[in-house]
Amino acid sequence: MTKRDYYEILGVAKDASEEEIKKAYRKLALKYHPDKNPGDKEAEEKFKEATEAYEVLRDPQKRAQYDRFGHSGLKGGFQGFDFQGFDLSDALRAFMRDFSDFGFGDLFGERRASRQRARRGSDLQVKLKLSLEEIATGVEKTIRLKRFQRCSACGGTGGRMRTCPTCQGRGEVRRVSHGIFGQFVNVSTCPTCGGEGRVIDQACSVCGGEGRIKASSTVTVKVPAGVTTGNYIPIKGGGDIGLRGGPPGDLIVLIEEKEHPHFQRQGDDILLELPISIPQAVLGDQVRIPTLEGSVNLKIPGGSQSGMVLRLRGKGLPHLHGYGRGDLLVKIMVWIPTHLGPEERALFQKLSQMEGIKPPKEDKGFFSKIKEALGV
Ligand SMILES: [Zn+2]
Ligand SMILES: [Zn+2]
Repeated sequence: MTKRDYYEILGVAKDASEEEIKKAYRKLALKYHPDKNPGDKEAEEKFKEATEAYEVLRDPQKRAQYDRFGHSGLKGGFQGFDFQGFDLSDALRAFMRDFSDFGFGDLFGERRASRQRARRGSDLQVKLKLSLEEIATGVEKTIRLKRFQRCSACGGTGGRMRTCPTCQGRGEVRRVSHGIFGQFVNVSTCPTCGGEGRVIDQACSVCGGEGRIKASSTVTVKVPAGVTTGNYIPIKGGGDIGLRGGPPGDLIVLIEEKEHPHFQRQGDDILLELPISIPQAVLGDQVRIPTLEGSVNLKIPGGSQSGMVLRLRGKGLPHLHGYGRGDLLVKIMVWIPTHLGPEERALFQKLSQMEGIKPPKEDKGFFSKIKEALGV
């Protein structure tokens, strides 16, 4: 990249006086200062470029070198300066060195004031209760909440303002004190305006000067599938708006899972306890069971034991970060009747005499063997 001519950068003539150079630089530096242009890379480059030009032209020796040899006259660490590595912090230091007296105060007065003026609103937090069905598919929800919003009566200004008489709009007060090492300048936030640089002259009658009012409003939030209690979704700018035109805070949406009448969640698997009758367990059956997405048929194998778990692959919840889904686990619960009629009692009594109804003596690993035999 070829460097621009230093005189051209500052917009001054070749024979400009020191004073003209300083004035030209100050104007550019105040315009492109990073504090005034946060996040603006182009402004930052311009600030650096102007400061570099100023650093050379303000110094009679370097200026003479530059006039004779151009940019190449300054290469190779001339006089301890190497503009190859002239970065933003160098530029900021150079600027502060020369303009902490007159230019800097203006800049900071403005900056502090605007920073205070633009006081950011609070972050808010809301809970969002979701059913397992909603979590399974992902969902878009509209949340109703109360938050500070811009007062439409005054447009967020808070009413008529005037420059703070204590700090003259700087937002800060300076106190000069003398110590043994010399003179100190103490800078503190202005007590009258709290750093805002302005005070209310006539407050807006609707918002009382805050520039905002609390009102209920709605926010739409997109919830991805597979979330769980404790997950949260940040919504930038969804919080309270700041005082008198300050930027809004963020809204944090906390996910909370509703209890489900049938299912229990186990990570991305869901568990269903399925009560079946003794004959169903013994003989096997075909039943309808609920899933998160409608009901399905389930074949209960004959000889199913109470506590046995049947796994329906992919019928659980989607993984939040990635592909695939968990399973639906169906836990067989053999229901034992508690009240028997005379006929039923007789049947059970008859059954109890039979050999095949008794559990085996050898119990170790019994259930797993059964499971193996059933292929579940
Ligand atoms: Zn003040
Ligand atoms: Zn108002």
